[in-house]
This record gives sequence, structure tokens and C-alpha cells, in this order.
Amino acid sequence: MSTSPQGKIFELLQVYNRSRENIRLLVGMSSMADYEKVGFIDAWQEEMAAYFERYGYCFACNRLLDRCSCEEPLNPSVRHTA
Ligand SMILES: [Zn+2]
Repeated sequence: MSTSPQGKIFELLQVYNRSRENIRLLVGMSSMADYEKVGFIDAWQEEMAAYFERYGYCFACNRLLDRCSCEEPLNPSVRHTA
């Protein structure tokens, strides 16, 4: 039994939704300052982008990386520095 590529993105999105809910609860319970929350969520998004990429999907558009047409595909290894 093999998982179709279409099936895989649903799995990834389920993981993403569950993870997002956890992060939301964590951030909601924490006493972090807003700028800390932003940094925390940014780091989590980078992790999610890396997770999607590992399975061959673009985190931004949820397409297979070869079909991704994002102008600036999310790349966790490239950090936006000022
Ligand atoms: Zn994309």
C-alpha cells in the first residue's frame, strides 16, 4: 500500500494543524513578551517549512516542490537578516 502524493499533503496538513494548535496553546499560556512570541512562532514556521520540504512539498503553497511557483519559496536554510 503506497501513499499517493495527494494523500501525503493531507497528512502533512494534519500534522501542521495539530502543531499549530499546540503552539497557539503554548503561546497563550506563556508569559512571553510579544516580540518573544513572534520569534517563537517564526522558529516554529521554519521547522514546519523544513518538515514539508523533507517530504517534497512547499510549505507556502502546499504544492510538490517541482510544481511550486512561489516567487520566493520558503527556504529554512535562508534566514532573513537585516
Ligand atoms: Zn510554493
